[in-house]
Parts: sequence; C-alpha cells; structure tokens
Amino acid sequence: MRIGLLKESDSESRVAFLPEVVASLIKRKVSVLVETGAGESALASDAAYEEAGASIAQRSEVIKQADFLIGIQAPDDKLVASLSQEKIWLSQYNPLWNIELVKSFQSKGLTTFSMDAIPRSTRGQAMDVLSSQATVAGYKAVLEAALKLPSFFPMFMTAAGTIRPATVLVLGAGVAGLQAIAIARKLGAQVQAFDVRSAVKEEVMSLGAKFIEVEGAQEDSAAGGYAVEQSEDFKQKQQQAINEHAAKANVVICTAQIPGRKAPLLLPKEAVAKMKPGSVIIDLAASTGGNCELSKDNETVVEYGVSIIGQSNYPSQMPIDASKMFGKNILNFLELLFNEEGEFSLNFDDAIVKGTCITHQGEIVNERVRSIIQ
Ligand code: NAD
Repeated sequence: MRIGLLKESDSESRVAFLPEVVASLIKRKVSVLVETGAGESALASDAAYEEAGASIAQRSEVIKQADFLIGIQAPDDKLVASLSQEKIWLSQYNPLWNIELVKSFQSKGLTTFSMDAIPRSTRGQAMDVLSSQATVAGYKAVLEAALKLPSFFPMFMTAAGTIRPATVLVLGAGVAGLQAIAIARKLGAQVQAFDVRSAVKEEVMSLGAKFIEVEGAQEDSAAGGYAVEQSEDFKQKQQQAINEHAAKANVVICTAQIPGRKAPLLLPKEAVAKMKPGSVIIDLAASTGGNCELSKDNETVVEYGVSIIGQSNYPSQMPIDASKMFGKNILNFLELLFNEEGEFSLNFDDAIVKGTCITHQGEIVNERVRSIIQ
C-alpha cells in the first residue's frame, strides 16, 4: 500500500503529517509518496521527507500512483474529479456540513475517512484532530486578542498608577474554550465562561474562571457529549446573561458550535453595541456562521469601536506544532487500517474505523452522516 501526502491550498499552512511520521509508516511496511513542497509552509522540506524514507513526486503523479491519499482540508472539485474508484481519501472534510462532497464521494464509490468524525471516546483521544487543533485555536485566539486589545491583560500596580486586569468572556467551554480560559488566566486576565453543558462547570472553575449559570439548559446523553439545540425560553435567558457580561468584558472569545449545524448566535449586534470601545471579539465559529452576528469568516470588522475577528483556522497560523499534532493523530488512526503486511484492511467491527469511514463502495457508513443525507 502506498500513501500519498498532498500539498494543501495556499490558504492552509499545515501539512497532514511531518517527516517524523514517515519512518513509522515505513516500519508498518507502507510506502510514502510526498507531493513536492507539501511541507514547505510547515517548514518541512522535501529533503527532510526523503531523508525519512519518502519519495517526492509532482501532484499528478502522487494522485496517480498513491492508493491512499491524505490531506488536511476537504479536496476541491478538480481533485475529487481526478480520484478513481479504488482510491482511498482521508482528510478533515466536515461531512455533516459538506453534504454535496459526501454525495460525490458516494456516487464515485470511493472509500473516504474524515478525521473530524473520530468518535469522542477515551480510545479515540489519541486520534482526535478536533481536540488537538482546538487546543491550538484556543491558545492562538487569546494571544491575538491580547495583541489587539489597547490595554493590558494582567493587573499592574506601578508608580504610574494601578491597571485593572482585563475581563475575558469565553462562550463555549469545550476544548478550545478551556484552552482559551487557561491561557487568558496565565496572562493575568479575569475570566468568565458560559456553556450549555453543566458538566464543564467544574473544569471552568478549576482553571480559575467563573462559570456563568443559566438554568434550564437542555442536555442529551445521546449527543456524545456535544451540545444540542436549546429551547426558546432558555435562549432568551441565556441572551440576557451573555449581554450583561459582554458589556463589561474587554475580550469575548466565541467557540460555541453544534456539529453539523450553524453555530449558535450568542452575540447579536445589539450586544456588541453595548460593549466598550476598543474591546475585541474573536469568533472561532466564523466558518459556520459565527457566534457573533457581525463576524465575517477570515475578516476583521470594526463596529461600534469593537474589533470582531472571524477566524476559524488558527491552527494554520501555527503550522509546525499543529501539523505535528495532526500527523500524530493520523498515524494513530492509520494503525487501525493496516495489517502487519502493510495492507489496507477495513474492520467495521472497530467503532473508531466505522465512525470515521464516511463512504465506502457507494454506501454512507457513518450513521450520523447517513441519517442527515437519507
Ligand atoms: P464543540 O467545538 O462542538 O463546541 C464548543 C463548545 O460550545 C462545547 O463545549 C459546547 O457545549 C458549547 N456550546 C454549544 N452550543 C452552545 C450555546 N448555545 N451556548 C454556549 N455554549 C455552547 O465542542 P468540543 O470542544 O469539540 O467538545 C465537545 C465534547 O466532546 C465535550 O463534551 C468534550 O469534553 C468532549 N470531548 C471528548 C473527547 C474524547 O473523549 N475523545 C475529546 C475532546 C472532547
């Protein structure tokens, strides 16, 4: 079996795996073909991949010769069109959102895996790209907010007077949100956080932040630990609490998402209008509509004196460590797909393989994706 590593588009600096993963794959009797320049923007040269045992080839050759193609982002239409039925595709292609792409994989009979569908189980943690990349996003979001904010994060008592610490409000305390809380606390800010899942209250508090409580949130044990849609009554109470806290905050970090749906709207423009001029909003959910009504994906807009930064791909801005973590997640997953002879072997009795496989031989394998499409 030959794995092909593809170069991402210009807007993505990460690469799906660094040269350090190549040696482990070769030990598994899998050969590796790398597209020229695939690792360049993550500071991994062709020579480093070659030294690790990979061969380097032009894109068209990688697509032709490799059996199993690996990338980070969803493939574009041209790439999908060039894939023949026997190819296997793996990337993070958000199948609950990119329905048309799933349908074209299905109609071509391709076997495809989406790393964002790895089940959120204890065993799945080592392969969980959503977690590893959200760690990068939460970290970077706070650093960008601190750079943009026209005042300090920490408290200072100096001869030139006392500076009050910044107040940071984190909306959504999942992996990115908890990381954002931890970094904002390390920088000395006072942090408040809100989430519809009451289970995160203790984690928020253990990081030294205050948890904003709103009673009546709906939780569903069948949702795999994810948030679910909330009632109108709860949404109103939640809105009031968020508006009050946002008006006093210097920074709001938005991370709230619901898999396969538009991100919940938590900061309407009326709430932004009441924020202090100079405040900063970072919206990590911008690519699925944003938690802030005024967010635009990949853009910074300034309204009412507040900077609103829509950024859903911070990991691309930290390509070395983000690629390192992504590659390790992929390697751990590939361990489940190859037998001792380095041959591809698909075991649907394994819940991780079954959950991550989206299409195979014209069928939609992942149950959640199937329930949405059929
Ligand atoms: P996510 O990116 O889907 O969402 C971010 C956060 O936003 C979540 O905490 C969610 O509850 C919250 N949110 C959604 N709607 C909201 C709303 N209207 N208002 C406020 N907050 C809202 O979440 P994630 O970081 O991917 O984590 C989701 C779950 O998966 C968590 O339970 C987490 O502990 C769990 N998890 C499990 C594993 C594992 O076992 N492998 C790994 C990572 C995360």
